[in-house]
Amino acid sequence: MSEMKQRLESVLERIEKAAKKVGRTPSEITLVAVSKNFPAEAVREAFSLGVRNFGENRAQELKDKYEKLSDIQATWHFIGRIQTNKVKYFVPIVEYVHSVWREKELTEINKRAKMVNKVMKVFLEVNVSGEETKAGVKPENLKNLLDFAKSLENIKVIGLMTMAPIAENPEEIRWVFKKLRELRDELKKDYPDVTELSMGMSGDFEVAIEEGATFVRIGTAIFGKRT
Ligand SMILES: *Cc1c(COP(=O)(O)O)cnc(C)c1O
Repeated sequence: MSEMKQRLESVLERIEKAAKKVGRTPSEITLVAVSKNFPAEAVREAFSLGVRNFGENRAQELKDKYEKLSDIQATWHFIGRIQTNKVKYFVPIVEYVHSVWREKELTEINKRAKMVNKVMKVFLEVNVSGEETKAGVKPENLKNLLDFAKSLENIKVIGLMTMAPIAENPEEIRWVFKKLRELRDELKKDYPDVTELSMGMSGDFEVAIEEGATFVRIGTAIFGKRT
């Protein structure tokens, strides 16, 4: 068995176990394999093992890989910091953008999505932990941003995303995931499309699943250490 196959099987088992622990079914959880820094051939191998969703954080790297993999039917996710001048590269390729939190990003994605006649599924990134340097909208500004997004025809906000702080023990950051779920539950009343939670990475995905993650973004645990 290849190393990647072993790692993937272990991740899938851990997802299943975490889901069952809280009475959820693993099929509610989409595994987004984060292939950043790994070559197109690594994506091809993961695809051959059954992975269908891939996340990238740089527009140019995504575009290059996508062009090398035009023969496979992968679903792509943009998960990185958004530079508005690069939006035009990823919009035609991806089905989801996880890391949107500024009005100007929404405006540009909407404009580019309209040009290629698609409705982009978007997660709004929330700065739950309140760290100064962290990306994401403050919880108290979420409703304003959602109202703004509502006015854009080629944007559909489907959920919230967060990056938890690095922690030795993922139990220390359980509250971050719980808070994102509570925000989603609160918003769902007025914004019924906001149903999804993109949270959990290699170091903390089990806790995120226990707290309700519906998309987990996992790199290292599948592809190995990035260089
Ligand atoms: C790199 C990255 C991940 C995956 O991180 P791992 O720790 O390798 O699983 C998830 N989300 C975002 C936004 C990332 O940039």
